[in-house]
Amino acid sequence: MTTILNADLHCHSVVSDGTLTPEALAERAKANGVELWALTDHDEVGGQHRAAAAAKAQGMKYLTGTEISVTFIGHTVHIVGLGFDPDNAELVQGLRQTRGGRTERAMEMSEGLAKVGIKGAFEGALKFVGNPELISRTHFARFLVESGVCKETNEVFRKFLTEGKPGFVPHKWATLKDAVTWITGAGGLAVIAHPARYKFSPNEEFALFTEFKNHGGQGVEVVTGSHSVPEYQVYAETAREFGLAASRGSDFHSPEESHTELGTLPFLPGQLTPVWDLLASRIQ
Ligand code: AMP
Ligand code: MN
Ligand code: MN
Ligand code: MN
Repeated sequence: MTTILNADLHCHSVVSDGTLTPEALAERAKANGVELWALTDHDEVGGQHRAAAAAKAQGMKYLTGTEISVTFIGHTVHIVGLGFDPDNAELVQGLRQTRGGRTERAMEMSEGLAKVGIKGAFEGALKFVGNPELISRTHFARFLVESGVCKETNEVFRKFLTEGKPGFVPHKWATLKDAVTWITGAGGLAVIAHPARYKFSPNEEFALFTEFKNHGGQGVEVVTGSHSVPEYQVYAETAREFGLAASRGSDFHSPEESHTELGTLPFLPGQLTPVWDLLASRIQ
């Protein structure tokens, strides 16, 4: 195909920490001119059959998707998987295992928040949860906004939910090797999500990209709602250096919270191989 394609290969539904159903997202993507779509819920493929059917009903091409939480050298990194078989047993089991510790972690987060005077955060966050196996920091952020502690979710993360803050609980997610292997083993393509978000040193970033490639990873997000315009160029260059294909996705979560709408980012810079070129046979 071409780099000039309105592909949006990263967003979230109520199956993880988004606020819209897969059907509402499909309708919104289509209305915004998306031609190729993927729903990439955190550590979940439970919405994939619904999303594929909704895309078909809208006359939009579809790639299966997920976004796996990984712990790499003590930091959380996200790996997007695209174009896999959503019923693959190892992938489904691996994701179940990755989701496993979330409820306990959420209870500990709630204890941390109680210590600074915010009571009932676990129950409060649960009200926003669409999937009981997937309680995330985003749901806590929504509760703290609703209860008037903060004005917006970004502020909650800054003050309460990031490293060193009262509601932050370190967590051990999947390994980089497992995440990439689950995706590729299910016939899909693994993509490093929003690399600029990790604030790695040049050596750490080199290690991430090198190990990712060694495990069989093939893509990197270049144009994402989490990158600034100069960062598109930085990671276009990284993609070329490492011989990785490039992806594009809004990381849309909610009409109220997301600053980047589905399907509205710039196209991929030229001289890159788009991930959808490598996934032609997996497009539905
Ligand atoms: P978790 O998987 O529970 O650690 O939650 C991670 C999610 O929190 C991400 O996928 C984002 O949706 C959200 N998030 C992380 N940092 C921020 C931030 N600074 N502002 C708003 N949402 C954030
Ligand atoms: Mn999220
Ligand atoms: Mn992410
Ligand atoms: Mn995401």
